[in-house]
Amino acid sequence: MINLNDLPAVTSPLPWHAYEWGKLNNQLETGHLPHALLLCGGQYSGKSQLALSLSRLLLCAHAEGGLNCGRCHACELSAGGSHGDFRWVQPEEKSRIIKVDQIREVVRFSNMTSGFGARKVIVLAPADSMNVNAFNALLKSLEEPASGTYIILVCHRMATVPATIRSRCQILQLPVPNQNDCCRWLDETTENRQESERLLSMTEGRPLLAQYLFNTGGAEVFATRNFALQALLARKITVPQAVALWADEEMVVFLDEIATDLQRILSALSIEQLRSKQARIAFGLADEVVDLQRAVSAGANPNKQLLADAFLSKCCRKLGAGIIGDNVLMEKGEDAL
Ligand SMILES: [Zn+2]
Repeated sequence: MINLNDLPAVTSPLPWHAYEWGKLNNQLETGHLPHALLLCGGQYSGKSQLALSLSRLLLCAHAEGGLNCGRCHACELSAGGSHGDFRWVQPEEKSRIIKVDQIREVVRFSNMTSGFGARKVIVLAPADSMNVNAFNALLKSLEEPASGTYIILVCHRMATVPATIRSRCQILQLPVPNQNDCCRWLDETTENRQESERLLSMTEGRPLLAQYLFNTGGAEVFATRNFALQALLARKITVPQAVALWADEEMVVFLDEIATDLQRILSALSIEQLRSKQARIAFGLADEVVDLQRAVSAGANPNKQLLADAFLSKCCRKLGAGIIGDNVLMEKGEDAL
């Protein structure tokens, strides 16, 4: 969620998006900026900041140096979240999805004449949180874009965006942030290189999450949760203890972190170990998490406690401790799994 009511005068993209930013600027200058753009990149990597920088640049009346000027009336309005030609669509409070009604409103807006300048800008973030009905409602606006209207979709799971939508957008795949750039950027917050490195390593190179953990003091809890699955499989903690670690978190956080944990376990296995039955089960469990993530994105609302309990119990039952050690292949009891 981005707070759009109190922005700095100028919005610039994060340092690791400099190349993509140059490309977008170039397209804008030469009149080749597409009317529908899909920004795809990792979570917590600053995609929304890139979308916001581009939106404000498009709305600004006197853009300079490739950024919005920060002084014109349009910039004042966009800084206060009250620019009439700008819509930033995200899930409404307490909702995890962008609803079809929100999209219908956006379609109406895209058909109206711009009230201020020559351009209108619509950002949908995250587009992963739209369901099929919402995507279908958007389709017509992407097929026949109103003149001067730019639609920017932001997502981190390209597979959740239907092919009909993808084919009507220019896709900009954002790279994994350069870790040196991330570290330098995070140093401005932490004022401590070692701490920056520790947080980036803990968050697997996701700079905005690292900054969030530093600002909220949540790093230690995050670190415990990060390895909860390993601890559970090694029988160092019980299922109820593991479930309790996410007691104050939303379902999406639980699913994201378990997905990361499963990936970490799998990526630590050797090629030979990856052929074991346990590894295949772990891949199956990882797929199950992806299905659950899709269902939750589409509006499903299962009981988190029950789901976490059932899923973690299943991990214990099906994987056992073997998967996390060097003894994967030696576990000949696999057939009983
Ligand atoms: Zn301006």
